[in-house]
Amino acid sequence: MSSKVPPIILNNGVEMPQLGFGVWQVPDDEAEQAVGTALEAGYRSIDTAAIYGNEEGTGRAIAASGLPREDIFVTTKLWNSDQGYDSTLRAFDASLEKLGLDHLDLYLIHWPLPSRGTYIDTYKALEKLHADGRVRAIGVSNFLPEHLRRLVSETSVVPAVNQIELHPHLQQHASRELHAEQGIATEAWSPLGQGKGLLEVPAIVAIAQKHDRTPAQVVLRWHVQLGNVVIPKSVTPSRIKENIEVFDFSLDDEDLAAISALNEDRRLGPDPATFDMS
Ligand code: NAD
Repeated sequence: MSSKVPPIILNNGVEMPQLGFGVWQVPDDEAEQAVGTALEAGYRSIDTAAIYGNEEGTGRAIAASGLPREDIFVTTKLWNSDQGYDSTLRAFDASLEKLGLDHLDLYLIHWPLPSRGTYIDTYKALEKLHADGRVRAIGVSNFLPEHLRRLVSETSVVPAVNQIELHPHLQQHASRELHAEQGIATEAWSPLGQGKGLLEVPAIVAIAQKHDRTPAQVVLRWHVQLGNVVIPKSVTPSRIKENIEVFDFSLDDEDLAAISALNEDRRLGPDPATFDMS
């Protein structure tokens, strides 16, 4: 594990770096360079997904890094069109092959698709992959509290992680509370609010000036102090480096309160209750 990023301990004892590198919207031919830059900067966790189309580039960067496999935590996600027991097993094999790996650290169901009613069977396939030792931890993404409650009552392995949209404008109190009760780690996607607007909010800019940090670092530090796992994305080397330098300063109670006051329950992405893209 990188010395820069402390781990959190998942509910099955597996360690996951609290900060990782997200690669949504990074084209496959740019992923190798971006992930390579992140690994050089000290990131040891990479978040990709089958639908991102960059598992191959991500895998090439991991291989080229020369780092021991056990030092890198790799997450990918099962796409919607592959939900269902047998299709999930096949999709997992395809993702592993693209990544060039023999096992995965974390496999997530990308979206719940509640109107299809397939996430229980899909999750049972994840349980099998976990039991077979092919993935060290399993979890979900974009699950609302009602989906999580049903999943936990109808399956055996409590998800290690729920990866959800979370940033100062969408603080997800109900989900975070349920995760804490169930021992599920909260992983924040779009932790920087996709860089739009949020990083110019006066309260955040003022806190950044006070600590001689950047707004992005302040927002990432807020997540870290809340206990969230974060996976900021950038393809700009200076920002990739900047985004990991958040473990050598602290926000005080006043800063945390000022950021918590920014909640607007405003999503940038789709609503998981209705999102159903194949
Ligand atoms: P993000 O909040 O990480 O924002 C990324 C954008 O912010 C960059 O493209 C850039 O424009 C800007 N940025 C990054 N660093 C900056 C800096 N230091 N200073 C100024 N601007 C900066 O958004 P994201 O990519 O949507 O989310 C992060 C990761 O979360 C994704 O790459 C992906 O891995 C994951 N994700 C998952 C889901 C899901 O459904 N599970 C959905 C979206 C994203």
